[in-house]
Amino acid sequence: MSKRYTITAALPYTNGPIHIGHLAGVYVPADIYARYLRLCGKEVLFVCGSDEHGVAISMKAKKEGVSPKEIIDKYHKIIRDSFDSFGISFDYYGRTSSDIHRETAQAFFRTMHDKGCFETITSEQLYDAKEDQFLADRYVIGTCPKCNHPEAYGDQCESCGSSLNATDLIEPKSALSGETPSLKSTTHWYLPLDRYETFLREWIVERHQKDWKPNVLGQVKSWLDDGLKPRAVTRDLSWGIPVPVEGGDQKVLYVWFDAPIGYVSATKEWAALNNTDWKPFWQDKDTQLVHFIGKDNIVFHCIIFPAVLQSMEDYILPENVPANEFLNLEGRKLSTSKNWAVWLHEYLVDFPGKEDVLRYVLTANAPETKDNDFTWNDFQTRNNSELVAIFGNFINRVMVLMHKYYDGIVPQANQLEEVDKEVLVKLAAAPETIANLLEQYKFRAASQEMLQLARMGNKYLADEEPWKQIKINPERVATIMSTALQVAASLATLSAPFLPHTAAKLSAMMQLPPADWNSVKELPLIIHGHKLEKPSLLFDKIEDESIQLQQEKLEL
Ligand SMILES: [Zn+2]
Repeated sequence: MSKRYTITAALPYTNGPIHIGHLAGVYVPADIYARYLRLCGKEVLFVCGSDEHGVAISMKAKKEGVSPKEIIDKYHKIIRDSFDSFGISFDYYGRTSSDIHRETAQAFFRTMHDKGCFETITSEQLYDAKEDQFLADRYVIGTCPKCNHPEAYGDQCESCGSSLNATDLIEPKSALSGETPSLKSTTHWYLPLDRYETFLREWIVERHQKDWKPNVLGQVKSWLDDGLKPRAVTRDLSWGIPVPVEGGDQKVLYVWFDAPIGYVSATKEWAALNNTDWKPFWQDKDTQLVHFIGKDNIVFHCIIFPAVLQSMEDYILPENVPANEFLNLEGRKLSTSKNWAVWLHEYLVDFPGKEDVLRYVLTANAPETKDNDFTWNDFQTRNNSELVAIFGNFINRVMVLMHKYYDGIVPQANQLEEVDKEVLVKLAAAPETIANLLEQYKFRAASQEMLQLARMGNKYLADEEPWKQIKINPERVATIMSTALQVAASLATLSAPFLPHTAAKLSAMMQLPPADWNSVKELPLIIHGHKLEKPSLLFDKIEDESIQLQQEKLEL
């Protein structure tokens, strides 16, 4: 394992709140990974921030008749609060409207400009004469030339994930006026990606063939095989970071040029606050950089940003980009504009105290290898049959029996029987099994291994029946309870990456030391004489009525 980890999660656009698709695709897996590495004692920096430039924001501002600044301030707060509530443990959450970010992004651009990394190209671009506005990115909508999706944007098709130029669109329409655009000449700086083709092919396809996810490699290979073309990194817009070189008046950096640099700016801001150096997190070869993103961001994180980092020379490249596929909601694609979503800030109101339940359901059903579906019925089943009936039930049984028989004081175990030894052997192996899965970004399998321990604990208690033995063989009960307690104590650490709020509650209830992945490998975790706090329930049942309310909201 590396000495140090820089973990980034895709910067959310501050043009609206975030929903379960964002959480499932990016933030929960990134957080599980960051928490796991911290529990292993690694030096981890986990950064993210609000992406506050781009056309989506100016369009929203225009529609609501307010300034872009009002839009970003409003949603920055909503998004940041949602992340806090769900326990997404960023070390720093920045904003791309900050001064440090503007300076950092401009310094990247200037350095690359001075090194001759760009080409300037004058071309005819789509132009809305009525609005006196060039139409880039989301200002223009048309049919995707690759998949025929009728609502592709000028920079990207969200249906097939293709990266597009506005002029590629079939039958383009201005998103501002609805008019068919005309063409007008303009000059921009382009990153000639074709120059990086050999480097990218060697770096990704040859070196990371085995460790990158097949869906990511597949997309990258198909771009490389299509042949990379120069890509404009500036825009004729007013909202964004001004182009810092001669001829850049009235132009701003393309949002996808500046957004990933936001990870670097966030690191700088974090370092300044903590009186430390930001450079090792981006420039030391012993640092492992991992980008968590959704599949629609693969081109930016696997092709464009690495080309930028490579041009800057001092920077490390990502070790992995474990992009997820998409989560659907009740069989339909999640959509902000069509309001087909479960919004996090609304979930928090409807299901207070159930942040971990959503984290768990989204992990157990994560779209890791293919698009997956979130349904409210599945949410209820996973809560009631897994978290309540397996995890919660096991912990509650152990805690209640411990207080009933021993006033919460751990008894001395006696002679271990074969069945006890089997449980302890499986328990001792679990930290490594789960760790291996987490290190391969297989979060759903890891979460199921964790739950499997609770299932084993439940079965053990059901088979050994301490409630029957207590009258006839109290010595045996001491051994059973001591063994079951080891499982419960192990779960307090092994569940922590997935269910941080629950793990903290369980640790407090069991009076355990701070969670530590390495020490959980050494049994026993809890010994004779240790005092437990009074039990309280970790999870409770979700009734049909609550689920029906959610289904009615969606008009199912
Ligand atoms: Zn498409």
